[in-house]
Amino acid sequence: MKAGVIAVQGDVSEHAAAIRRVADARGVAIEVTTIRESGIVPDCDVLLMPGGESTAISRLLDSEGIDTEIRDHVESGKPILATCAGLIVAARDPQDDRVQSLDLLDITVDRNAFGRQKDSFEAPLDIAGLDEPFPAVFIRAPLIDSVGDDVEVLADWDDSPVAVRQGPVVATSFHPELTDDNRVHELALFDDDQPTTDTPEASR
Ligand code: GLN
Repeated sequence: MKAGVIAVQGDVSEHAAAIRRVADARGVAIEVTTIRESGIVPDCDVLLMPGGESTAISRLLDSEGIDTEIRDHVESGKPILATCAGLIVAARDPQDDRVQSLDLLDITVDRNAFGRQKDSFEAPLDIAGLDEPFPAVFIRAPLIDSVGDDVEVLADWDDSPVAVRQGPVVATSFHPELTDDNRVHELALFDDDQPTTDTPEASR
């Protein structure tokens, strides 16, 4: 499996470590690569788009032509996990002209809404598909204002969606890479219908 982490800014090494831990636990051979230029995304099976500053991230994706490659990745049904600023860049409408949206998710976002209330906080979050609450770390988190019909809300906090899925795209307004709990990475990037290790024909 080849995983690509968009490496403009944010928790690049933490995301790389998280997906490595999931792959190791599942016995999947993995190569993790960082992405700052075009030409790498097409070789990736899964992508991660960390937080940071959505304006800066989207500007680089656009100027390097990585934006089109990410759209093609999603169109071909391959998974991407976008967190915090990554969620803002993925949103159809980030409600800020300085963010060049990838339009991967039919949501509208208020960029710094949580941040204005409280800069950062941690909360146990019930997430659809996970048995136990997830320790969610919010840092100047975006607020999802509205979701389209094709968007599944995986988790709410304070009556607002904070984790969503649309096809192969999973996005969280919190930072799952900042804990050693890998379940969000696993939920987003590993297909449970696929065998995780090669089973020799003869032993089936
Ligand atoms: N508020 C930031 C933005 O607008 C996102 C914060 C984060 O990624 N932690 O891009």
